[in-house]
Amino acid sequence: MATDSETAAPRTTPKIRPHPTQNEALVFEKSSPGKRAYKMPPLDVPAVDAAALLGSACRETPAELPELSEIEIIRHFTRLSTWNYAIDLGMYPLGSCTMKYNPRVNEVVARIEGLAEAHPYRPESHAQGALEVIDLLQRCLLAITGMDAITLQPAAGAHGEFTGILLTRAWHESQGNPRRKILIPDSAHGTNPATAAICGYAVENIKSNGDGCIDLEALARQADSETAALMLTNPSTLGVFEHQIHKIADILHERGALLYMDGANMNALVGKVRPGDFGVDVMHLNLHKTFSTPHGGGGPGSGPVACKAFLEPFLPIPVLTRTQVNPGAPGPVSGTWDQNPSVSFSWNYNRPQSIGRVRAFYGNMGMFIRALAYILANGPDGLRQTTEDAVLNANYIRKKLEGFYDLPYRTPSMHEVVFSDKLQAAHGVKTGDIAKRLIDYGFHPYTVSFPLIVHGALMIEPTESESLEELDLFIEAMRSIARECQETPDLVKNAPHSTRVSRLDEVQAARKPVLRWRPAK
Ligand SMILES: *Cc1c(COP(=O)(O)O)cnc(C)c1O
Repeated sequence: MATDSETAAPRTTPKIRPHPTQNEALVFEKSSPGKRAYKMPPLDVPAVDAAALLGSACRETPAELPELSEIEIIRHFTRLSTWNYAIDLGMYPLGSCTMKYNPRVNEVVARIEGLAEAHPYRPESHAQGALEVIDLLQRCLLAITGMDAITLQPAAGAHGEFTGILLTRAWHESQGNPRRKILIPDSAHGTNPATAAICGYAVENIKSNGDGCIDLEALARQADSETAALMLTNPSTLGVFEHQIHKIADILHERGALLYMDGANMNALVGKVRPGDFGVDVMHLNLHKTFSTPHGGGGPGSGPVACKAFLEPFLPIPVLTRTQVNPGAPGPVSGTWDQNPSVSFSWNYNRPQSIGRVRAFYGNMGMFIRALAYILANGPDGLRQTTEDAVLNANYIRKKLEGFYDLPYRTPSMHEVVFSDKLQAAHGVKTGDIAKRLIDYGFHPYTVSFPLIVHGALMIEPTESESLEELDLFIEAMRSIARECQETPDLVKNAPHSTRVSRLDEVQAARKPVLRWRPAK
């Protein structure tokens, strides 16, 4: 006997184009043989056998590339782009990352043909304008940091740390002993111990005190004649200013050790204080954090390293040299090289004590241009205002969320504020759950579970870019989530509810990433 399902009319699933917010197939899955996004005109020269021409360089089987029409490709990638959160959509309160807005004028300047198309192999005599950009940026950064010499070569903050510790090592070696260990506070960014280790140093942890600052007695005990340096982030990753920084420098210097400053948090210092004045010997800057150039998704970044004069001989080659051709003429600061041919720039490779190159060519030029545009557009007063606004915004959030979230360190906040999930954990809700619920409210999550010295950390950095209205929206969202944690904790624990996919297996994603996809045969 026929069952109902056999006699019923076959159920066909109607073919419906997926809504842009729904799952998008891979381009490989969308591929159909023979489709093209463009057509070449018919050959008007004799055909040549490419395989014969290329010999062994020619692959045996053609690459399995997806075949689609132009509109299909455009729609595919445009739909994908709408899944992304971006600074152009809303606030990005990631602490430690300084996700400040990158003004559009930076992009206009970076695209000026003479700069964007400048080739690194161009002769120096044809690249004087580009070299002046580098020179001017170097001098701005030295003025901001109060240091004596600088290299723009490193391609990111971590790369800058690597370069700075190589300088430290080279200097100690020149003194007869590279030394053995580097001290790193327990609040440090993970790249600090990684840098020390890759430069051949043992890492020794140093405890923070109740204020979240370096414990001076512990430092005096631990720093000895085998200590190469202390790597310190100031303000720390708790957003706390090391107010005894000069004493920290003294303790290190008395023992022949150097003070390395991780400058990732310079957004709280620019225009107010200069690391060169409080005893720092060597430091890196993150142009892509403090000086507004875009970052995320793997770069490009820029991590200049500034140092005191005694480390200058060890800087990576080449070093930019400025020569006053006509000593009587005014300097180039007020005009371009074209207007002032009395100054010329050249690269100096003849530096016997240099640690060598750390990167091809001269660094990420596009980032230099954006950073310089940002610095010049703001000017000294504008940069100081930026710092003050960043600190004000963080403290506004701190004040408005106090009581709703636990504040483990009562020390005044600088440009970022760190809460813990202690109050919410009582209802079984963790910092990661709150962060995911924030997505439903239209915000990018804050930094989760970092710094490690705060259990269940919520680390928030609004930056100076955000208006009072946006800050209030964020605060209202955070307060509302705090209420949900008490009243409907499951709602928060299962968030996000508004996204295409909800909770992914993050461990699996990290351990077994699917990086390639091959079409099924
Ligand atoms: C971002 C950051 C770094 C690393 O900088 P990258 O440019 O990401 O390599 C190092 N230390 C601190 C405190 C940071 O916030």
